[in-house]
Amino acid sequence: MSAGTESLLVGADGVLPLPWLAGPLTHALAQPGHALLVVGAPGAGALELQMTLAQAWLCEARPAGAPLAPPCGRCAACRLVQARTHADLRILLPESQRVARGWEAAGEGGEAGEGRRKPSRWIRIAEVRDAIAWTSTTTARSRAKVLLLHPGEALQGEAASALLKTLEEPPPGTRIVLSCGDPERLLPTVRSRCQRVRLAAPAADQAVDWLAARGVPDPAVLLAAADGGPLDALALHEAGVDAAAWGELPRALAQGRPQVWSGWPLPRALDAMHKLCHDLMVVAAGGAPRYFPAEALGAAPAIASAVAIESLGRWADVLVQVRGRAEHPWNEALLIESLVAQGRDALVRLRA
Ligand SMILES: [Zn+2]
Repeated sequence: MSAGTESLLVGADGVLPLPWLAGPLTHALAQPGHALLVVGAPGAGALELQMTLAQAWLCEARPAGAPLAPPCGRCAACRLVQARTHADLRILLPESQRVARGWEAAGEGGEAGEGRRKPSRWIRIAEVRDAIAWTSTTTARSRAKVLLLHPGEALQGEAASALLKTLEEPPPGTRIVLSCGDPERLLPTVRSRCQRVRLAAPAADQAVDWLAARGVPDPAVLLAAADGGPLDALALHEAGVDAAAWGELPRALAQGRPQVWSGWPLPRALDAMHKLCHDLMVVAAGGAPRYFPAEALGAAPAIASAVAIESLGRWADVLVQVRGRAEHPWNEALLIESLVAQGRDALVRLRA
């Protein structure tokens, strides 16, 4: 979902491309532990912070043994991290994330003959074991060895357990940085072995300015659509969803036009419907919408009927169920058509 990370690391100018990482970066660099857990707000740039940390740990501009500092962005090590080719950096991301970031094509690295399977959302145990073996080899450039895992939620069962011993007692010079949105979704034993670094979404003003500087029109609308996560707002923009297209979704639902979602990846379409359902419920209860401009949602009835609220609630339940089964081989066009029909039904009752 996020934009390519390459452009969002410290480059030759030494400037942090995501200015709101400065505080968390300083905090993280001051941690004495060898294992960090970045707890990031969605779309705030957890992976970018992890990569910047790797860059700082491996940066060769700072004399060996000197206190850690933000990366210079210019030395050979910093450039190798930018290119993700530093021999002392191992990055474990699930295939779905590598594909979404354009780091590889879908199906690459998967077993042959699997056909059109969906890219995995999990970090495989074989990759974890391989990375653990790698941590005990000697460094290539002698600063440190950095193992980066993103997101921690993609480490399940055996893959998470396999990491425990290394998290507790990594080989000398090894640093491990995990990330997650919700620490409660990690194994308690993984959580407890890491020092936490919190990464909050930037203030709306700062995020809007940052998006505007990157050429995003109507940044405030897309920022609300992305629930305040600037990288998710940028990803929407880069996927061709502009403020007008976002504002059109409530009308498309009311008119039963599933075509407006055609070409959207299923998770993004589900996310948009979920946000629409949320806002319709809030507006029906007399509140202010969170994700959509109020005028796009249309006038709310003075009193929403219990039947209408119940109907919206059923739609929400179905959306949650479908989202939880993202790897099911859905016929996506039919699924979206059916979800739009249910949403429309709820909306008709709401406006009756
Ligand atoms: Zn450097």
